[in-house]
Amino acid sequence: MNEDARAKKEIAAIKGTKDILPAEAGNWQWAEAAARQIFELYGYRELRAPVFEATELFEKGTGRASDVVVKEMYTFIDKGGRSITLRPEYTPSVVRAIVEHRLDLQPEPLRFYFMGPMFRYDKPQKGRYRQFHQIDVEVFGEKDPAIDAETIEMAHALLARLGVTETETLVNSVGCKACRPAYHRELKAAAEKTGDVLCADCRRKIDTNPLRIFDCKVEACREAAAMFPRIIDHLCDECRDHFVRFRSCLDLYKIPYRIDPLLVRGLDYYTKTAFEIVTTKLGAQNAICGGGRYDDMMKEFGGPDLCGIGFAMGMERLLSVTEPRPVQGKVLYVAYLGDEAKKVGMKLARIFRRAAIECLLEFKDKGLKAHMARANKLGAAWVIIAGEDELRKGRYPLKDMGSGVQTEGTPEEIIRAIQESA
Ligand code: AMP
Repeated sequence: MNEDARAKKEIAAIKGTKDILPAEAGNWQWAEAAARQIFELYGYRELRAPVFEATELFEKGTGRASDVVVKEMYTFIDKGGRSITLRPEYTPSVVRAIVEHRLDLQPEPLRFYFMGPMFRYDKPQKGRYRQFHQIDVEVFGEKDPAIDAETIEMAHALLARLGVTETETLVNSVGCKACRPAYHRELKAAAEKTGDVLCADCRRKIDTNPLRIFDCKVEACREAAAMFPRIIDHLCDECRDHFVRFRSCLDLYKIPYRIDPLLVRGLDYYTKTAFEIVTTKLGAQNAICGGGRYDDMMKEFGGPDLCGIGFAMGMERLLSVTEPRPVQGKVLYVAYLGDEAKKVGMKLARIFRRAAIECLLEFKDKGLKAHMARANKLGAAWVIIAGEDELRKGRYPLKDMGSGVQTEGTPEEIIRAIQESA
């Protein structure tokens, strides 16, 4: 590799990360604004937690045996000798914040949302990144399975707003502390009987967390797992009742769903409801939303006995199945001739911007023709011409670039005309 190539390589974005360029950023803002608006309608409020946390938080919350913790965390020792991790998911941070700030003292249920980057050292491919972005929703203190269905209904409201169609909702129950141990034993026995059919990773999971075998993508493991005993056949009365009532609420909302007995989700803390919304428009990485109930986490963090449920949507995947929006707003270009007129232009631009009109003013001196050509190139909707004469009169020519019609007015009149035509 020559010097040039090496220098170029050194400054490239890190594998698995991606720049969101201005042409795409409008779409991100649109989706984020829609999410904000919808979540607030359901009583959710934003909770922003730090990008990095103590490693222990995720070991304890996400689970020591989960793939995310075992293989995928961005962990480093900081200059103070502490083990720090860039958050791979959001739920443990929210739980920590609630316990730390005693937010549980507020009236329940507590509803929070968040949007931001997550970090997982996963194998990058289409739809799977090492820095990716999630829209995250968590609600605490509501045991009623109606809330499980309401969060799914809210996810669907957002998808509908974003024009995301062709989705399928998969649901399952992963049981609870009461029914899971007996099921684990059965599952373990069944997995042990498969000999070395399972991959090395899954053979390790037999002892650490056999439920995780269902997450494996290796074909032989998937075939074997399809024959394993299923958790929904081993639920205790409480979990079975919860699952039935949850599904009847989905029926009430007329949300079609499919029970997927193999859906256990990659994180350790789920109890009872687990769900995923997949799209038929994407290939292997087809999950756009995943979530579930986690009734024991808060207590395990030393907080109150407060149940929780939430979901996370992957922004990159979500945006890959939405129609790109035209984001170009209408722009006013300020043209001027000469140094004195430039000062007039600067003042005018300030007036227009304060009136919430997007205004472009360039500082390189040019002739009127060059200004017009530039305004055209930038796609300006109007051009105002600022000169000393105009300043004296207090009236400025305004050209509508679409119709070619030129009018004249005071800044206030121009603002009114622009606002009326917008
Ligand atoms: P999870 O926290 O693994 O349940 O993921 C929730 C959602 O985040 C998934 O349904 C995906 O849409 C998205 N997601 C998870 N991991 C990645 C990744 N590595 N790259 C892009 N999106 C991801």
